[in-house]
Amino acid sequence: MERLGRFSMGTGDRFGQQGPVQLSAITEAARHGIIVTPVWNKSNREHLFTGSRPEDVRAEAEAAVRMSGYAGSYFVDADHINLDTVDRFIECSDFFTIDVASYIGKRAPDDRIAGFVDSCKKYRHGVKVPGIKHGLPSSEKQIAGIAEKYLQAARKAGEIYRRISENKNDGSFVVEVSIDEVMQAQSPVEIFFILKMLKDESIPLQTIAPKFTGRFNKGIDYSGDILEFSREFEDDVLVVSHASEEFGFPDTLKISVHSGSDKFSIYPVIKGILQKHNKGIHLKTSGTTWLEEAGGLARAGGEGLEFMRNLYALSVENLNDLRAPYSDVISVRHEYLPAADEVMQWNGSRFADSIRNDMGNKDYNPDMRQLMHIAYKLVTHDLAQYLDLVRTHRDIISQGVFENLYNRHITRVFPPM
Ligand SMILES: [Zn+2]
Repeated sequence: MERLGRFSMGTGDRFGQQGPVQLSAITEAARHGIIVTPVWNKSNREHLFTGSRPEDVRAEAEAAVRMSGYAGSYFVDADHINLDTVDRFIECSDFFTIDVASYIGKRAPDDRIAGFVDSCKKYRHGVKVPGIKHGLPSSEKQIAGIAEKYLQAARKAGEIYRRISENKNDGSFVVEVSIDEVMQAQSPVEIFFILKMLKDESIPLQTIAPKFTGRFNKGIDYSGDILEFSREFEDDVLVVSHASEEFGFPDTLKISVHSGSDKFSIYPVIKGILQKHNKGIHLKTSGTTWLEEAGGLARAGGEGLEFMRNLYALSVENLNDLRAPYSDVISVRHEYLPAADEVMQWNGSRFADSIRNDMGNKDYNPDMRQLMHIAYKLVTHDLAQYLDLVRTHRDIISQGVFENLYNRHITRVFPPM
């Protein structure tokens, strides 16, 4: 079976230009004893917005690997797919993030719920989890409630998994199930029973992406109670590890954190818990590689800066359209955005500093950063010029992409071996 290593990292590349630099961050990490498997992820939505196809991501990954002489394993992730979108990803992907969040709360047939509750007799008086004092409290009523909320989603995940496995060789791909793009976090005990449901569907699950407590907005830091996150994440790690043995999942089963990038305040917490329990993780980052391109072009000045200033003006005009698909993971406050005509006067470093996540810089503006994060969709207005600029200013952009992945993510989250 294709197995994910202990540490893996999902990384986006909206315009497919930064694969070799992303790999150089992975290679640098390996030199320092941090072994991370790279996974290129791109969702159907991103493909639609940028006019790319799933096979383009495969081609980019293979070209990057060839160019870099990278010898480790790597994957191409059909990110957040569902039954409507999976088909065109099947041939060229070897990692599938099966997203069933939209089925949470839809009720499964009564006999299925009853059957599930019946199969959980041994957990009616609690679930013992090594490492969690007193285990997790559970009761028949609570298990029924969890089944009412999640069983239909798990059955849907089974259906999507079977669609993939009918068209691909057994064991030739990694399966993740994601339920993160919702408002309400899943508790550790819910995750335990969701894993049982996924096992009942015979899914050879290697990662599960729950929703954690707090807000994981794209491209900016965590917002929430760090202590509460820390307790929850530690329990989640222990629950997943225990469920893996209890239900017989691949021993590589681990948590996937759809971080949205830049969760600097909780990265040390995650790293500490992984070290304490000797566990792995999949860290998915969002498309902040694109923001490095945006910042690099602004800093380069001239046409690069002009392109970005115009893009910003256009994105303010289109704010509502741009943020609509991202309501759970983006919160741009219009009143905190600088006026477009003011930005038109900015020099390159002012623009770049405004969208770089550095709390120590007085010009940093998280609302503007988030808006630019989703503004990639508008680049297609002049994709040819954009790609031309990115190639011209390759050096300055490469520095940013490397720095972002290596210093701001890899070394902060993944412990060395
Ligand atoms: Zn996600």
